[in-house]
Amino acid sequence: MTRYVYDFIDGHRGMADLLGGKGANLAEMTRLALPVPPGFTVSTDACRAYLADGAVPPGLFDEVNAHLREIEVRLDRRLGDRAEPLLLAVRSGGRYSMPGMMETILDIGLNDATVTGLARLSGDERFAWDSYRRLIQMFGRTVHGVPAEEFDRELDALHATAGPDGPTAEQLRGLVETYKKVFADRVGHDFPQAPHEQLYLAIRAVFESWNAHRAVLYRRREHIPDDLGTAVNVMAMVFGNLGPDSGTGVAFTRDPATGTPGVYGDYLPDAQGEDVVAGGRNTMGLAELARTDPTSYRRLTEIMGTLERHYRDLCDVEFTVERGRLWMLQTRVGKRTPAAAFVIAAQLAEEGLISWDEALTRVSGAQLAQLMFPTFDTDATPEPLATGVGASPGAAVGRVVFDNAAATAADPPVILVRRETNPDDLPGMIAAAGILTARGGKTSHAAVVARGMGRTCVCGAEALEIDPERGEFTVGDRVVRAGDVISIDGTTGRVYLGEVPVRPSPVTRYLAGELAPESDRLVTAVDRLLRHADTVRHLGVRANADTPHDATRARALGAGGVGLCRTEHMFLGERRALVERLILADGPAEVAAALADLLPLQRADFVAILRAMDGLPVTVRLLDPPLHEFLPALPDLAARVARAEALGQAPGHDGVLLAAVRRLQESNPMLGLRGVRLGLTVPGLFAMQVRAIAEAAAQRVAEGGDPRPEIMVPLVVDVRELAAVRAEVDAVLAEVPGAPPIPVGTMVETPRAALTAGPIARQAEFFSLGTNDLTQTTWAFSRDDGEGSFLGDYLDRGIVDTSPFETLDPDGVGRLIRLAVSEGRAARPELAVGVCGEHGGDPDSVEFFADAGLDYVSCSPYRVPIARLAAGRAAVAQAGVSDSR
Ligand code: PEP
Ligand code: MG
Repeated sequence: MTRYVYDFIDGHRGMADLLGGKGANLAEMTRLALPVPPGFTVSTDACRAYLADGAVPPGLFDEVNAHLREIEVRLDRRLGDRAEPLLLAVRSGGRYSMPGMMETILDIGLNDATVTGLARLSGDERFAWDSYRRLIQMFGRTVHGVPAEEFDRELDALHATAGPDGPTAEQLRGLVETYKKVFADRVGHDFPQAPHEQLYLAIRAVFESWNAHRAVLYRRREHIPDDLGTAVNVMAMVFGNLGPDSGTGVAFTRDPATGTPGVYGDYLPDAQGEDVVAGGRNTMGLAELARTDPTSYRRLTEIMGTLERHYRDLCDVEFTVERGRLWMLQTRVGKRTPAAAFVIAAQLAEEGLISWDEALTRVSGAQLAQLMFPTFDTDATPEPLATGVGASPGAAVGRVVFDNAAATAADPPVILVRRETNPDDLPGMIAAAGILTARGGKTSHAAVVARGMGRTCVCGAEALEIDPERGEFTVGDRVVRAGDVISIDGTTGRVYLGEVPVRPSPVTRYLAGELAPESDRLVTAVDRLLRHADTVRHLGVRANADTPHDATRARALGAGGVGLCRTEHMFLGERRALVERLILADGPAEVAAALADLLPLQRADFVAILRAMDGLPVTVRLLDPPLHEFLPALPDLAARVARAEALGQAPGHDGVLLAAVRRLQESNPMLGLRGVRLGLTVPGLFAMQVRAIAEAAAQRVAEGGDPRPEIMVPLVVDVRELAAVRAEVDAVLAEVPGAPPIPVGTMVETPRAALTAGPIARQAEFFSLGTNDLTQTTWAFSRDDGEGSFLGDYLDRGIVDTSPFETLDPDGVGRLIRLAVSEGRAARPELAVGVCGEHGGDPDSVEFFADAGLDYVSCSPYRVPIARLAAGRAAVAQAGVSDSR
């Protein structure tokens, strides 16, 4: 027969699956001979059986009774005994902590008879009646769903009429009678007097609370599986509300906000545990306990030291002092802020409690990301005006502008607000402190460019109705005009009206070289852990950088090269006119002339980037986007031409452009004439770029540098495309004297490229996984629209756990990647494989890439430290180092 009940002395902390986190830790404290009230845990197996069958598993309550008798013998008190009643606390506790989500019932065992026994035992009649009314209220709410307010109303009424010392025992006895009436009216029968029945019903109610709506929602948000069930902890009651020499509190072995060593906590004299949590009364610091009861305080600090050494981490505890005697009610490895996580991990490693490898497992890239951005002062945030997708983190405050001209002309800081952005908006994006769009998701143009620049960006705030012509946007009936101040949070996606105060990040100042590592505790910890990550990681970390400035910044942040230089970003600004010439060129001679004008500009760009990354690889991607992206948008042009025609004027250049845009227009441009297809259809385009790269490298060699360019072909789906491009590339390279050998590789960013990786690898010296397009084409989700529209619904409904554009989908896209790696390497064993999609900087995805055997990841410069840390964590995990907590 399955065993369902475990005495605290029978368990240990390794049994959290069965006993829940709380039960396992109570067992561990009991084993350590710490003062835990006697008790037992009903296992998660029992809960799962109950939830599956809708009935308590046979024999469960017999087992409960047997364990109960052991408590009764140990304490020499019995449940239901009139003279010396045992009272019980019943608490939920699943594998993962779900704070406040599930149920607790205290004072089980009180009834009309035992309440007088409790009064005699405690010598405090008021206390006994107060405990009884608490039981009726908690039981009514938890077991039968009676709203707490129905009881609170009566309690408030009593307090309003009570004297200065609070209600008398007689008044509280009257309150109990009223509570019993409320209970009977609401529930349809009397409050159960039989203590065992109370206990059984309480256990069932805890089982049921697993499926309470709020618990289900919480699990979905925290990615906790729905089928784990909760354990139920049944423990002898100890009382913190027996007068001034009693009390209750919570404490941490280190400061969970900053990681500073020492014992921190709150204490409330003459109170029960839920008074602290509910926050009805103001708590005091632990110093109050040290002053009023130094013996208990000393014992508490000793116990906290024992726990921290034993768990080798920050622990938090709940405790109660009953008439000068300390009892431990709970402990667990405590939650902490990202800053505290870094500080504590580094300190524990310094103290020798854990290894530096293990310290890496205690922090995450996501936490580092949070530490790198300025944040809004959370105490000061008002109600958000709207919420979009947090597309590029940070906190930005500025005046609203709607276009490039205003963004560059206005006094900074400004927030550029657009329906969506396109390459035209780059000057405005550069000038702005933050970017807010009404359309698009995390891989939309605005998001990708903003992340690359480290600009705060909120995308897809669909509640915004933007009217640039009138210079305003509206959200419902609120109107925000150009020049009004707004604040946007690129982490949460929230948009606020007015200025919210911002705190700068010391970690970013350190990474930028403005703060020395030893300048503050947090920065020291980040520095040590990042350096350790660098010594253990196998994955290289490169940056996606299109300008010398980004390349320099990325190198300072620890990038080992450029993994993706998107050359289209070099064709913006005033150079667009040259691209326009190329697109409008009539005949080979005009094409050649346009390309010849572009060549020196490209060469100069490459020289500067190769200089910034001297001695390190720089992967330059040949032109990728559809050409019409370099021309004005069709509706704008059409309107201009129509206006000219209405005025009887010749449309002139606009007319020519309009014809070109119409010619190039496609229904699905992302699946149209772009990438390698462009190179094969616009003669001389790729050749010009290749020549510029080779000549730049030759120039760097002549200058005494060590240039290491690599040429990458985008959007290949068939090896014959790559073979055709290679023939052209190799011919050009052979014509440029003085250049070093330049490897030629391809992006793998379509399912077909992944599926035919073997043949493609014969033509490619390296692969770079373009996981943005690969995700888009594998899922058939538009990267520009999906996140702004239905993906939100999918997340809410649990159809996807995270956006596949944010964290790599291991089951679909991941399988294609593993296939591409293995078949590519089978065809060409020395094939280098990296990734340059946005996932390259996502910590969870980095773990996948390490496991898939990639050589490097490439990500936005600011994410380089995050990827370094994640790669370090992946390496220690692969070496079998785990978090020993
Ligand atoms: C990709 O598709 O993952 C990629 C890096 O290319 P882009 O985002 O420029 O399409
Ligand atoms: Mg791509």
